Amino acid sequence: MEYKDTLVMPKTKFPMRGNLPNKEPVRRQQWEENNIYEKVQNKTKGRPIFILHDGPPYANGDLHIGHALNKILKDFIVRYKSMTGFHAPYVPGWDTHGLPIETALTKKKKIDRKKLDIVEFRKMCTEYAMDQLDNQRTQFKQLGVRGDWDNPYITLTKNYEAAQIRVFGEMAKKGYIYKGLKPVYWSPSSESALAEAEIEYHDKRSPSVYISFEVTDGKELLEGGEKFVIWTTTPWTIPANLGISLHPEFEYAVVNAGQDKYIVAHDLLETVSEELGWDNPEVLKTFKGKEAEQIITKHPLYDRDSIIMLGDHVTMEAGTGCVHTAPGHGEDDFYVAQKYGIKALCPVDEKGVLTEEAPGFEGLFYDKANKLITEKLDEVGALLDLKFITHSYPHDWRTKKPTIFRATSQWFASIKDFRQDILKEIKEINWYPHWGETRLYNMVRDREDWCISRQRTWGVPIPVFYGEDKTPIITDETIEHVSKLFKEHGSNIWFEWEAKDLLPVGFKSEHSPNGTFTKETDIMDVWFDSGSSHEAVLLEKEDHRRPADVYLEGSDQYRGWFNSSLSTAVAVTGKAPYKTIISHGFVLDGDGRKMSKSLGNIMQPNKVLKQLGADILRLWVASVDYQADVRISNDILKQVSETYRKIRNTVRFMLANTADFDPKKDKINEADLAEVDRYMLHCLQNLVSKVREGYDKYEFSTVYHEVHNFCANELSSFYLDFAKDILYIEAEDSSRRRSIQTVYHEILITITKLLAPIIPHTAEEIWEYIPGVEEESVQLTDVPEAREVAGFENQLEKWAQIMHVRDDVLKALEEARNEKVIGKSLEAELTIIPKDEKTKEILTNIQNLHQLFIVSRLNISDANDRAKSYQYVDILVEKHPGEKCERCWISSETVGDDKDYPELCTRCATIVKDHYSEA
Ligand SMILES: [Zn+2]
Repeated sequence: MEYKDTLVMPKTKFPMRGNLPNKEPVRRQQWEENNIYEKVQNKTKGRPIFILHDGPPYANGDLHIGHALNKILKDFIVRYKSMTGFHAPYVPGWDTHGLPIETALTKKKKIDRKKLDIVEFRKMCTEYAMDQLDNQRTQFKQLGVRGDWDNPYITLTKNYEAAQIRVFGEMAKKGYIYKGLKPVYWSPSSESALAEAEIEYHDKRSPSVYISFEVTDGKELLEGGEKFVIWTTTPWTIPANLGISLHPEFEYAVVNAGQDKYIVAHDLLETVSEELGWDNPEVLKTFKGKEAEQIITKHPLYDRDSIIMLGDHVTMEAGTGCVHTAPGHGEDDFYVAQKYGIKALCPVDEKGVLTEEAPGFEGLFYDKANKLITEKLDEVGALLDLKFITHSYPHDWRTKKPTIFRATSQWFASIKDFRQDILKEIKEINWYPHWGETRLYNMVRDREDWCISRQRTWGVPIPVFYGEDKTPIITDETIEHVSKLFKEHGSNIWFEWEAKDLLPVGFKSEHSPNGTFTKETDIMDVWFDSGSSHEAVLLEKEDHRRPADVYLEGSDQYRGWFNSSLSTAVAVTGKAPYKTIISHGFVLDGDGRKMSKSLGNIMQPNKVLKQLGADILRLWVASVDYQADVRISNDILKQVSETYRKIRNTVRFMLANTADFDPKKDKINEADLAEVDRYMLHCLQNLVSKVREGYDKYEFSTVYHEVHNFCANELSSFYLDFAKDILYIEAEDSSRRRSIQTVYHEILITITKLLAPIIPHTAEEIWEYIPGVEEESVQLTDVPEAREVAGFENQLEKWAQIMHVRDDVLKALEEARNEKVIGKSLEAELTIIPKDEKTKEILTNIQNLHQLFIVSRLNISDANDRAKSYQYVDILVEKHPGEKCERCWISSETVGDDKDYPELCTRCATIVKDHYSEA
């Protein structure tokens, strides 16, 4: 008889290798064909709702690794919630308006905007955006992200635009929307505002002038007559000067230079003296910038005040530390003046020509006005120095001509009107990481009014009409009407129809006695689009609600979507649109560097999928501390693949040893399980509770590490190892064997469920091999809760001690192997001398302890001279004197006792006789 044929060896078709790149697409197709997303929704319907609201990526270009990190994290949460008692629909979204798409069409597709009418161009933008969306959708699905991909929300759809108009209208109704001036990049050569993306820097030769402003009211600090010195390369903006900015914390000096007293930053005194030819000026007095606030100087050309203001934008990098402030011609200038309630003055028209608001220079092109203005300044004695410099200067990317900053009419949302409400709401939100709260709080606290208008074409029109006297008209009636029109026709209608046709029939206004109207041509900032999703999606999608439970985005969204969503939601409803904010960091390369084309270190998700598979990328996402910046490299992915292999092999071993197990017939009652098996079930409950806690706190690395450790330690190094002596050796349906299989079976089901949100493809594959499971997909099951294991009350301490002793035994065996006392551990006979009575009692009362320790015999003794001392027990390792049984390889004195099977120990002889005897 071949004894090896009487062993119950493991067998399974579950492959050793994942072969993920080939198998995952097939798996996803199966899910799609079987409508798994819908089935999950149907199963969970009626449970408490959990909404993770998707922040819309911009529909342009292929996905990068940051997109993958973001969507995979969301998928972990949604999948987990729908397996733990919630109904968690997931509707992905896309942001589709804005300049990058306009630019892509004109640049990449070589579309000449000027030859198209606006409606035609916008239709091309729609097509382009939808193509990009399709491409990204395919790629998101390849990551294994589950959601309602056939019904995403898209900011260019009619319903979405209509909802956005309602948000705008509601804000307008509350008086939060106003029209005001704001400086923007302006190109006189193309007579248009430019976006930052349309600016190129080229060298330009400019005058460099130092100009003095005489103090007329020094308050408590100065006597009067002292002169603040400013430096500028744009003398043409002097007519628009309304103040001088100082840094509140910098030290300023009043110096005696020639006949006058001048004021400059103390740290810049030396360089300024050199420029202006001051010879060793005497410092009369110094003061902090903040002491000079509201001091009044006289404008050098006009009979007008120029106020001392304070701003953090003042630097010591150049100039005098006293910054010429023309709110109509600079962004910093505009905001600092806004703080002082000073309105922008912009005496330059759209062609770059000075207007009559710059008396003495009207009609001059700004660049030409420089000469006359400096001459005038010289005449009045305010010009201290004039040179020419060449410096890097913003130019229009199309005309290649210099641009200017110019205040234009813009639409604003007045944040200050509801800032306190936003700040209050921020305190109510849960933050992961906790510093998010301070980050957003400070951002909102310091935020200026939100400029929501753009002079572009590809976006949602600002739904404002103008009367004959140019008064803007926004009423409930007009908003409701426009919203209805957009819902029916889309926002293109705004550009296709005349103003009168866009108004309700018979609309009348006191501002239009003749009944004629015009309409606004600006569109809304795209952040207003995505920031309205709480209205367009949370309120309108089936099974959704406002506020959402979670918004989860990259940390750049404190400035972006977290901010814009919060602003519009508080403005409209008084409440935040989310209960919890989770933010993640950026993805860096293995050395912690930013990914860039020039460094050649860009890791594309597509490539990872093709080489390793989505589950490896997803496992990587689970492994990192995502709330900070994270790293990815081939080496890092290799480590993650190792973990994957460990998990897979562990699972495979259990599958292979439960192939003959039919849970319906073979399952052993929990109370009847062997003690060690119940101990293992207890360890499994520990795992369940740690993993669930990890998921609940959005700490997925806990899931990753706990599952990996459980596979490596509790299972591979212990339970699976010693259990071979039972699974292979005992008769197939022996209760000891079924007891272990019962535990394996539960471990398999549990681990598969715990891993399903992280590695869904692999979890589904495992699910197919677990005997006796009924649900068609692991996604349609629930993650179990940790429970008490029957008959395991108060056993934990005992088992902890057994595992301690086991550690000692492993050490002793290792030493004995090194000293050539034994070869394999099964050749060993152990004598253990417990150090205390309690340990002795524990060890004496546990059955088959030799089996747990994988040795041939184990004796508990009170004393032995030759035993070595270890931490918990003394141990003597000797070679077992008996012969090796040919079937089980255990050394035993009983080998030879059975006359029919002299090569076997009596245990094996009995098994073979009872189950495999040919007689
Ligand atoms: Zn044997």
